[in-house]
Amino acid sequence: MQNIDNYNFTSKRAIVRVDFNVPLNNSFEITDDTRIRAAIPTLKKVLEKGGSLIIMSHLGRPKGPNEKFSLKHIIPTIEEKLGVKIKFAPDCMGKEAQELSATLKPGEVLLLENLRFYAEEEGKVRDLAADATEEEKKTAKTAIKESQKEFAKQLASYADCYINDAFGTAHRAHASTALIAKHFSNNKMFGYIMENEIKAIDKVLKSPERPVTAIIGGAKVSSKITIIEKLFDVCDNMIIGGGMVFTFVKAQGGKIGKSLCEEDQMELALTILKKAEEKGVKLHYSGEIVAANSFSNDAETQICLDNNIPDGWMGMDAAPSTIDKWEKVLRNSKTVLWNGPVGVFEMPAFAKGTNRIAQILADITSKGVFTLVGGGDSVAAVTQMGFANKVSYVSTGGGAMLEYLEGKELPGIAAIRE
Ligand code: AMP
Repeated sequence: MQNIDNYNFTSKRAIVRVDFNVPLNNSFEITDDTRIRAAIPTLKKVLEKGGSLIIMSHLGRPKGPNEKFSLKHIIPTIEEKLGVKIKFAPDCMGKEAQELSATLKPGEVLLLENLRFYAEEEGKVRDLAADATEEEKKTAKTAIKESQKEFAKQLASYADCYINDAFGTAHRAHASTALIAKHFSNNKMFGYIMENEIKAIDKVLKSPERPVTAIIGGAKVSSKITIIEKLFDVCDNMIIGGGMVFTFVKAQGGKIGKSLCEEDQMELALTILKKAEEKGVKLHYSGEIVAANSFSNDAETQICLDNNIPDGWMGMDAAPSTIDKWEKVLRNSKTVLWNGPVGVFEMPAFAKGTNRIAQILADITSKGVFTLVGGGDSVAAVTQMGFANKVSYVSTGGGAMLEYLEGKELPGIAAIRE
């Protein structure tokens, strides 16, 4: 398979799908440029090896062309990070984009306008009348799928080779993430972000050093159920924290006060407990918690057992004694995967448990443990607490990472491997 390091880019135009979906403030300034910085090694490599670049991305969720979501706002940042002046095609389709790409010289860079100005990028029907019949919906769906193929073909026509470096959208079968790859037979490859994400997750899923411990936190059992079950095949230990704990505790007859609970998932929680036992996975989910008398940073607090929470109180964070128990498990592990905070970490009063997990992970990483952190809120937590550079790998993938962990084949990965 081709990769950036072995591919000969001399005088080749590479069209690169990046994830430059960065947050902008009201003056259209970038408030977090992590995603742009992350893609720079891939982009620089192509230029260093004598190629030229056509960069494409989405930004936000526009329903059509919309100034607010224009990629022109991010040109200065890309130029600064890449150290090269870039050209801009104000429409990713049409003559101008075609001509600009056709005349690109080695070392030059062209940025295409937001792909999602076209419904074809996602292949989803837009602007359907609210009272459309089933037949009309079906016809519109067939039509957009057909024009999506043309859209992908046109994008492909700009370049000699294709690089996908947008892991965050790898779980979507969009024109620029999947369909386009068909037009490049052998001339397609992953960028460094994609390569590293896949390597890091595969290291946990396929060849981990044991014992393996997963820390699963967050609000809801329902959103983590598939990943929990999948991880039973890999893990020796699973630490379950955060709001989802209380569904397990209540299902076993515990008193949880007004803690978060998904009543309709209690049955499932009991099944999970049984499955863990069958698979020989040791679950660590019970112990003392910090309870509060309201969902607020200045609430009154008390420490109590998670199965004996007074009426009117709610579990908000793991208590120090619980983290102490988890710490022993973590320090005995060789591979750790962390997804989801173990408390309401957005409120400083209830961020202590999550903060300590981040500290422990940073420490064991320095002692040779492989630590992978992924999924929106745990990434936010390690970044906010200043530990992002102290764990082995922070996955920026969010939904894509979860789906990959769940064992699904991601269209963006399959399209390159096919
Ligand atoms: P998720 O997106 O499923 O990973 O959930 C993350 C959210 O879970 C964060 O917003 C946390 O505030 C929330 N969370 C963590 N622990 C608790 C808890 N004990 N009660 C309520 N919400 C929680």
